[in-house]
Amino acid sequence: MPRYEYRCRTCGATFELSRPMAESSAPAACPGGHDDTVKLLSTVAVGGTAPAPSTGGGCCGGGCG
Ligand SMILES: [Zn+2]
Repeated sequence: MPRYEYRCRTCGATFELSRPMAESSAPAACPGGHDDTVKLLSTVAVGGTAPAPSTGGGCCGGGCG
């Protein structure tokens, strides 16, 4: 189950909750009892750029064949 980080706009506390993705945008109550919270960006980074293979080196440059 993914973890989401939230921040309370009332007291400024940040907290994490483990909840299904379907409920990621659902209101999360602050540990202090406040419900004015916002969801922060997930710290889990996925994806990225794969290193491109170096091109070069023809097969039949002239010797083979
Ligand atoms: Zn709070």
